[in-house]
Amino acid sequence: MSTTHKPIVQSNSTLHRNGTGAGMAVVDTGTQVSGNRVDFNKLQSICTELLIAIGEDPDREGLRDTPRRFAKHWRDFIEYQPGNTNTSFEAISTDQIVTVSGIKVWSLCEHHLLPFWCEISIGYIAEDKVLGLSKFARIAHKYAHRLQLQEQLTHQVADEIQHVTKSEDVAVLGRGEHLCMTMRGIKSPSIMSSSVMRGRFRTQPETRQEFMEMIK
Ligand code: ZN
Repeated sequence: MSTTHKPIVQSNSTLHRNGTGAGMAVVDTGTQVSGNRVDFNKLQSICTELLIAIGEDPDREGLRDTPRRFAKHWRDFIEYQPGNTNTSFEAISTDQIVTVSGIKVWSLCEHHLLPFWCEISIGYIAEDKVLGLSKFARIAHKYAHRLQLQEQLTHQVADEIQHVTKSEDVAVLGRGEHLCMTMRGIKSPSIMSSSVMRGRFRTQPETRQEFMEMIK
């Protein structure tokens, strides 16, 4: 279950209206952290109860340390800190589509508490704010590290991209595989896609088409 996946960054200047582009000054509006904390001891006892409930002996050799590992996994997942997600740059006249694709995140389906991975592609048309490149991945991971639905994940990523870039033109596409579909239920490997298209990505088919070409 490797998650190392290098995001691919593209900048397409075919929509560039004003020629020369960017005189930039960094604007750093602070670190955003996600809120929930876990009760580590309670998680350990819940895991012990779970083992008993499925007919296991929590004291047997192989399971002795499992409640601690279980609690640590939940703590790492829920208390994940994405770091600073909103360093942006003042940009002068950069009217162009910027895309970052291949951001692979792992999340947990809130209906089954089973993992799903999602590969997220983000695009926006820069107006007067350009987002620092690592921030796309941080934002995607931030919203993945909670109980989620893929449709909601793509919406939340789009909301934050819109918020930090101040751009109305934002596109987010998610493609994910959900273990609640592939290891239980219908047991059929399949990829679910969800997209959020706003502003010109919604109203201009050629802009949406250009985004889809760029993230291929
Ligand atoms: Zn599910």
